[in-house]
Amino acid sequence: MSHLHFADSLSRLGTESAFTVLARAQALAAQGHDIINLGIGQPDFQTPDHIVEAGIKALRDGHHGYTPANGIPALREAVAADLHTRHGAEVNPDNVVVVPGGKPTMFFAVLMFGEPGAEIMYPDPGFPIYESVIRYSGATPVPIALREENGFAFDAETVLAQITPKTRLIIINSPANPTGGVTPRAEVDKFVAGLADHPYVAVLSDEIYSRMLYDGREHVSLLQYPEIRDRLILLDGWSKTYAMTGWRLGYAVWPDAAVGHATRLCINDHSCVNAASQYAGLAALTGPQDAVDEMMRHFDDRRRLIVKALNSLPGLRCTDPGGAFYAFPNIEGTGMTSAEAQDRFLDEAGVATVAGTSFGHHGEGYLRFSYANSAENIETAIERIRALL
Ligand code: PLP
Repeated sequence: MSHLHFADSLSRLGTESAFTVLARAQALAAQGHDIINLGIGQPDFQTPDHIVEAGIKALRDGHHGYTPANGIPALREAVAADLHTRHGAEVNPDNVVVVPGGKPTMFFAVLMFGEPGAEIMYPDPGFPIYESVIRYSGATPVPIALREENGFAFDAETVLAQITPKTRLIIINSPANPTGGVTPRAEVDKFVAGLADHPYVAVLSDEIYSRMLYDGREHVSLLQYPEIRDRLILLDGWSKTYAMTGWRLGYAVWPDAAVGHATRLCINDHSCVNAASQYAGLAALTGPQDAVDEMMRHFDDRRRLIVKALNSLPGLRCTDPGGAFYAFPNIEGTGMTSAEAQDRFLDEAGVATVAGTSFGHHGEGYLRFSYANSAENIETAIERIRALL
C-alpha cells in the first residue's frame, strides 16, 4: 500500500480505452492467439518516404536543439498556407501553435477555460479525452448527445439550447471519432448564427479528420466563419492525414486573445516539438499529396466493405460513416451490452473493437470498428464474429 498523497484531481482523470484494448490484444497475441485489431485509431500505412527523409535530413543537418515554443516559422507559415488552400481561410502564422499531436490542444483549451463552476460541452459519443480533461479541470462536462438517426452529426438547436451563463467552451468534432459522422453545412451555419447571442462562449473545433471524407461529402471548417474567429480554436494535425501518429505533431489556430496563453502552456509543458518532426511535417504539407489520396482510396474501399459486412451480421445495423476511418454499428439486436460485445469479440473471436461506452454514456448499444486494417483482415474478422453470433 502506498503512503503517497496524490492530488484529488487525478481521480477525475479518465483515459482512452482504445489503448487498454490495444494492450489486451497485444497480450493475447503474445500468448499465441490470432488477433485482428480493429480497435486502435491509427492508419495502418507507413509515413510516406519523402516525409521520413525530411525528418532524417533535419537530424543530419544538425536540427537537434530547441525550436521556438510555438513551432518553427516555416512550418507555421506552411500551416497557414495549407488552411488557405483547403478552407479558403486567412490565417496569420502568428496564431498557429505547433504541439506534440492533437491532444495537447484539447488539454490546453480545456485548462484555459475549465475550472469549478464553469461548464464545457463536448460530443457524446465522442473522443474520450474531452470528457476526461474537462472533469480534470474541475469544470462540469455537459454532453452533446449525438444520434444515429442524425448520422451522428450534432444538432445546432440542441447545442444552443444547452448554453447557460456558465458555458465557457463548446467542443465539436467533424468528421468524428468514434462515429464517422460529418456535420452538414446547414447545421454549422445555424450553430454559428446562434452563437452571436453568446459572445462569451469559445469553440474548439477538432478537425483532425478534415482530409478524410467519403462520397463527395464536404468538410465545413469553422475557420470559414469570420464572425467567430475571435473565439475559435481550430485543432488539426498530421497524425491521421499523413499516417504520423508516432511522430507527435499537431497544431492549433488560436484566437488573438488566447495564443499567448497557448504558447505559455507549451513553454511550461514541453518547451517545443522536436525539430525533426517539425521538418517532416513541413515536407508533408509542402510536398506531393498522392500518398494521402492513395491512402484515402484504400480507406474508402474498406469502408464500403465493412459497412456492408456489418449490416449482414444478425443483430447489427450500421449507418454509412461519412468520414474518418471508423464504423459505429448499433449492436442492440445481439442482446449484448457494448462492454460484453467488446470482451466476447476479443476473447472468443479474436477481434479487437472498442465498446461504444468508452466514448461516453450515449455510446451504449454501439461498438467502434476501426477499418485501418487490410480488407482481408476485415473480411476474416467479420466471418469470425458471424460464427460467434
Ligand atoms: N482528436 C480526435 C477526434 C482523435 O480521434 C484523435 C486521435 O485518435 C486525436 C484528436 C488525437 O490525435 P493525436 O494522436 O495527434 O494526439
